[in-house]
Amino acid sequence: MDQIVLKNVTKKFPTKSGEPIIAVNNFNLNIKEGEIFSFLGPSGCGKTTTLRMVAGFEDLSEGEIYLGDKIVSSSKKNLYVPPEDRGLGMVFQAFAVWPHLNVFENVAFPLRVQKKSKTEINDAVNKALTHTNLKGLENVYPSDLSGGQQQRIALARAIVTNPKVMLLDEPLSNLDPKLREHMRFEIKELQQKFNFTIIFVTHDQSEAMAMSDRMLVMDMGNIVQIDTPANLYNNPVNKFVYGFLGQSNFVDVVLEDGKIYPVGGKGQPIPLAWSDELKGKTGVIASRPNEILINSNSEKGYATKIEKRIYLTSGIEYHVKLGEQTVRIRTSHENIYKIGDNVNIEFIRPSWYEMDSQDAEKERI
Ligand code: ADP
Ligand code: MG
Repeated sequence: MDQIVLKNVTKKFPTKSGEPIIAVNNFNLNIKEGEIFSFLGPSGCGKTTTLRMVAGFEDLSEGEIYLGDKIVSSSKKNLYVPPEDRGLGMVFQAFAVWPHLNVFENVAFPLRVQKKSKTEINDAVNKALTHTNLKGLENVYPSDLSGGQQQRIALARAIVTNPKVMLLDEPLSNLDPKLREHMRFEIKELQQKFNFTIIFVTHDQSEAMAMSDRMLVMDMGNIVQIDTPANLYNNPVNKFVYGFLGQSNFVDVVLEDGKIYPVGGKGQPIPLAWSDELKGKTGVIASRPNEILINSNSEKGYATKIEKRIYLTSGIEYHVKLGEQTVRIRTSHENIYKIGDNVNIEFIRPSWYEMDSQDAEKERI
């Protein structure tokens, strides 16, 4: 069953100059019950605005939003169910815990607003605190707790009303990297226990990939691609998605006499077959740094030199040139090449894109 449905949802913000900002452009989206669904995109692309419309904090310039089978926002009908009646839990980047309330009262707050009985409040808060590892801290004030514990208070407060849908807007951004990774697991565990549907907003691709059943990549108010993390990583529809999902090299190439040359590099072709699907006579080869082979004693590949060598904990990064364009290659710590070594490089799984086109068609070769 679809738990969250957006139909032709657009949000425009007026500006002084008259041209409105289109923060969200004609979103169509179906999120299934129990799914962890991430919105991934750079700052300013419209993630928070979309979430705020689902939550009921923003009206819609156009379109409709459904939660379950209930319509909760409609621009045409001018219908807006208020946030507190949407059955949502929410956690935002800023922890938003109340400093003057202890842990118990922070978590109990939404239930007090709903005028629940004392027993109901005690039971629900205890359950929420147990599931967020905050038992025993009921009487402590947030200022005496760590960032991770404060974020757990926000999570406990979001689950205490037993919501069907959880909206998380960059909830881990203020935490240190180790804690962030740990909290990913905690959120996934909570999801499995309570089976709510999650929209998880982030600009961090590894967080989105680790958390999501499915995710969408956004750019400037537009949905660019929706898929599972694996399918997105392996089949990005364009350069933007390719570049956003991981380390990437883009080599501009040109077709001459049936051979592929790096733009700016005369003479040596790159030994790859030209993709007929590619329109025009220029294109881009995209590759991940760990999907390029370095051959030292074979003629296979494009002949070049090691220009730079950088030691990393995860391996070694080499820089080589194709014509005037630099390509980064990641290898293990074995087979250490020196600066100046002659090598041949081979693309293992390159993708093709049209040059300078956001919505380019792609042909994997
Ligand atoms: P994200 O969460 O992806 O960083 P936002 O949804 O916050 O992006 O913002 C999307 C765009 O909408 C940005 O250009 C932002 O400046 C604009 N925007 C967001 N909220 C408002 C607002 N209340 N008034 C005017 N413009 C806004
Ligand atoms: Mg935001």
